[in-house]
Formats: sequence, structure tokens, C-alpha cells
Amino acid sequence: MSYRLSNDHIHKDLQGRSSYDADVIIAGSGPVGMAYARTILEKSPSATVLMIEIGSQDDPVVGEHHKNSIKFQKDIDAFVNVIKGALQSVSVPPADTYIPTLVGDSWTPPVNKDGSSSLIFQGSNPNQIREKNLKASAMTRTVGGMATHWTCACPTPHPEEIVNNPIPKAERDELYVQARKLLNVHNDQYDKNAKGDDISIRHNVVKKTLLDNLPQERNVQSLPLGVERRRDNPAYVTWTGANTVLGDQAKLLGTKRFTLKTETRVTRLVPDEIDPKKINGMLLRNLKNDKDELVTARAYVITCGAIGTPQILANSNLAGSIPALGRHLCEQSIAFCQIVMKNEIIDYIKKNPDWQARIKAHHDKHPKDPLPIPFADPEPQVMVPYTSKFPWHTQIHRDAFSYGDVGPRADARVVVDLRFFGRQEVLEKNRVYFAGDSSLKGEWVAGSTDIYGMPQATFEVERSQKDKINDQRMMKDMCEVASLLGAYLPGSNPQFMDPGLALHITGTTRIGKDPNSSVADPSSCVHAFKNLWVGGNGCIPDSMGANPTLTSVMIALKGAGAILDFLKTES
Ligand SMILES: Cc1cc2nc3c(=O)[nH]c(=O)nc-3n(C[C@H](O)[C@H](O)[C@H](O)COP(=O)(O)OP(=O)(O)OC[C@H]3O[C@@H](n4cnc5c(N)ncnc54)[C@H](O)[C@@H]3O)c2cc1C
Repeated sequence: MSYRLSNDHIHKDLQGRSSYDADVIIAGSGPVGMAYARTILEKSPSATVLMIEIGSQDDPVVGEHHKNSIKFQKDIDAFVNVIKGALQSVSVPPADTYIPTLVGDSWTPPVNKDGSSSLIFQGSNPNQIREKNLKASAMTRTVGGMATHWTCACPTPHPEEIVNNPIPKAERDELYVQARKLLNVHNDQYDKNAKGDDISIRHNVVKKTLLDNLPQERNVQSLPLGVERRRDNPAYVTWTGANTVLGDQAKLLGTKRFTLKTETRVTRLVPDEIDPKKINGMLLRNLKNDKDELVTARAYVITCGAIGTPQILANSNLAGSIPALGRHLCEQSIAFCQIVMKNEIIDYIKKNPDWQARIKAHHDKHPKDPLPIPFADPEPQVMVPYTSKFPWHTQIHRDAFSYGDVGPRADARVVVDLRFFGRQEVLEKNRVYFAGDSSLKGEWVAGSTDIYGMPQATFEVERSQKDKINDQRMMKDMCEVASLLGAYLPGSNPQFMDPGLALHITGTTRIGKDPNSSVADPSSCVHAFKNLWVGGNGCIPDSMGANPTLTSVMIALKGAGAILDFLKTES
């Protein structure tokens, strides 16, 4: 029996009895969900918001960035394991299950008629074609979403990266200003303090080396980040999390105006039986007791990430009526390497008169340390932005990711990471689809739910010849930039990372004017519905090298404005 059918049963069992009624229900508690919540709570004096999150609340502060712990500020490599633990794969083909050393009387998967042998274990996806997978693509299920671990890079896209966005430029520029405020974006937290002293030796030396050696047109600059130095101790910083975006509206949490339900799955939307343009309810499952519940609102917003959002729409049986759902998918390629800084650069640090007092204080305390870099010196955070001639985004910095820890291989102070993000051409055929949606003609196959019981996501994504040529040029550029700074750290030689690792999927619920090639209108309201909105990176209709969150928050701010107007007209 299909999942969708059983949902219908659930809905009928509940006999339309709503356990909660709000003005707005927001699915997902990441930075985009919080941008909606904040705007609606702040600008409407009475609106009530119910937020539903499938993950648990892992930090005492709702949605806080885990890297704000002093533990990780002292030891960035330890954070690599936090990220690894936070990422749950989207689509995993069944493993090769033949274990030649499994002998004796143990169970082995039977051989299929065609001679193959495969075991579908829970969460694996038998429909996934390996060559078309975004193998490293993952979701993070926790209060605060991926913003509990993100790098916080918030560059503004180059005009060539915003060609399909239907929001007029002047309006966009204004919304970007607001989005930067919500994400607390700064690009000076590693440069100079109020007294004019350099904050970070490493940052300033990396930036200077690139400024001195790359042509001016490369526009080397500090990486804009959602970050602010702590006032009580400037050695540490506060990274932007979903809590930063929510701001002081957090005070309403737990009051009648703002309720957050955690470990609760949004299963699907229930359209109105008479008015096909209206969503009438949302079906939830409490994951702790496995009980279903129906909640109702005047407006619904789905901000569950670029996979989770179309997944809910597909499970609501809407894939057939939204032809662009999951399509036009773009993901960035990542070229990566780590270098150990050149002797020449270390000598320059040693001799720079501006840093002498700091170096002396460090050596007085640690006379045996051969490096002229204090242990607490902040990491470099530099970017070489996208340009027409070099159409990729670069981060020349030091950060935890799910890879690239330095471990005992080198002194972390002399290691610099280079991450170059390449675009993918916007093509309708690149897509994610969901088991049970119209493209599978409603067929129900074993193993076609993910571990949360939602329809399994399957990728069909390929890089075009244009993408491949661009990737090749990007890799060459990365190697040239790396050679200005030092030699490759063994084990971190130049390499392309697994597809999907950027975690920057866009396009799956893209905004636009045409219902055939987009899912939602310029205000993120789903075409053909009057009270359903979508948010997140999936709404971005363009191919970008830049990190997407700033743009997604910018788009969400317009959507939240549209909901406020909707609430007024409907009341
Ligand atoms: C290692 C790493 C580094 C990154 N670095 C950057 C960077 O430097 N710059 C940048 O712009 N971006 C970066 N990102 C990506 C960035 O974190 C995301 O773009 C951003 O968090 C997206 O916000 P969102 O609110 O749309 O989605 P998310 O943050 O993914 O939040 C979605 C929420 O929805 C919940 N959810 C999903 N399905 C359901 C359901 N069925 N029911 C209820 N809830 C559900 C999830 O649990 C999650 O909490 C990085 C991510 C990672 C992991």
C-alpha cells in the first residue's frame, strides 16, 4: 500500500480535527525559516506563528551555531567531527553486499535471477544511478538547520550570477541590505580593530600576499562572513546561527505568539477539498510517540532545505501539478587543497614591525615555539570573488568542513585551505525526484522511503561539457593561487570533492514568473496556490558560484512581506 494512501487514511482518521491553529505555520527552523518568523512576528503586532522542526534542539540557545563553543574556537579541527555527525546522506545506492569472507552458516543476500546480488538496507535507494548521484549531498536535521555548523560565508553574487531572479534589481539591493543585517555579515572582523591594529597576523599576511601577486582585476578582499568578534574577549568570535536571524523575537518563544515543535515531521499538506487554490491543513507526525496530528493556519511556509522542501510538496501529491518541482537543479563543484605557508611568508611575519610586540609576548611565554604566530592568532578569511574572466567563487581561509582537518600532520597555524566553488549550468533535466511522484507513475518500490519515512529522493544530475571545461579552468587557477602561498600539505593535494559536498543545491523550488519553469512566483508563493510559500536555496533560479544563504534570506524577506500583506487582506 502506498504511503500516500496511508496518509489519506490518517487525515480521514483525524476527521479534520486540528490540534493547533496559527496564523502562519513555518516548516523548518533553519536561517530561512527564522527570517520568515522574525519578519512576521516583528512587523505584525498580533500574528501567531507555529514552527515545526524534524530535528531536536541540541543547543540551549534555540538555533545557535555550535562553533560558538570555546572548545571549537580553540580547536577548529575538532569541529570537523561535529559536521560529519550533522550530515545525513540524501541518496545512497545499495552497497555491494557480497562479503567473500563471510563463511559458515550466516545469512547472505540471495542472488537475483539476473545474477546480481544486492541488499536494500534501510535508507538505501535502489533507484539511484551512481553516475547521476550527488553522492555527498546531505541534510542536517536539528533546530537551526545547517546554520548550526555552516562556514558563514555571505558574498553578494556577481551580476552574472543573478540573471534569472525575477525580483527587480533595485528591490533586490534593498533586500540584500536587510539580509546582511539579519545574518550579521561583516568583512572586517579579521582585519583591523578600532585602534587600527591588525587583528589577525595570518589573515593580513595571506591577504597581502595575494594582493601583491594577483592582478588588481581579481579584486582580492576579506571574505564577508556572518560573524562578529566577542566584545568580552576579542580572541573569540560569535558565528551567525538561526538564533542570530531570529534576533530578539526569540523572546516570544513559548508565548501564544510563537510555538516551536521539535522532533516533529511535516508529512504533507492537505489541500482544501472545495477550493483547489487553498491549503487547508498540515499533517504532522510526532517522532517521539509516532502519533499523527493535523494543524491548521491561514498561511503555510515550507523552508526545509533544497531537498526537504520539494520532498514535502511531492508527498502532498503536488508534483503532478507543479511541473518544475525538483528540476533546474544546480550544485557547485568544489576544488580543494591545503598548503603549508612558504618560508618567505613566515620570514615576512617575523620582520614586520607592526607585529613585533605580539610576537615577543608570544615567545616570552613559549620560548621553544619556532613560529612567530601567537597560538590564538585568528585564521585567515580571504576571498577572490567571481569575475567574468574567472567565473568562480574562492575562499582562501582555514575552516572545519567534513574533510580537511590538519590533525597531527602539520602545525595548524601555517596551513591555509583553498576552496574554489564552480557553477553548474541551469538545465531543466538536472533534477531530484521523489519515490511515488508522477515521474514514477505512483509505483511503490521497496526501500523507497528515507529513514524518516518520507519519499526517497533520487538525483539525476550531470555536469555539462561547459561545466567540465569551467571546472578544469578553475582547478588550474586554484593551483596557481596556491603556489603563491606555499606547498601542498601531503594528503590535501589539489582535488575535486565528491559531487554534492558543497551543500549548496539551488533551483528545486525556484522562483520565477512562468509556472512551467518555476515553482513559485517572485514572492515565493507557490504558483496556483494563494496561501503556500516556499523558502531556502531551492528558490534560487540561477547558477551561482557564490554561497547561497544570503540570497535565500534576501528572497525570503520578500516572501515574508507578501505573507504580511496576505494576512491583512484575509482578515
Ligand atoms: C559544512 C557546511 C558549510 C556551509 N557553509 C556555508 C557558507 O559558508 N555559506 C553559505 O551560504 N552556506 C553554507 N552552508 C549551507 C547553509 O548552511 C545553508 O544554505 C542554510 O542553512 C540553508 O538554510 P535553510 O533554512 O534554507 O535550510 P536548513 O538550514 O537546511 O534548515 C532546514 C530545516 O528543515 C528541517 N526539515 C527538513 N525536513 C523536514 C520535515 N519534513 N519536517 C520538519 N522539518 C524538516 C531540517 O531539520 C532543518 O532544520 C554550509 C553548510 C554546511 C553543512
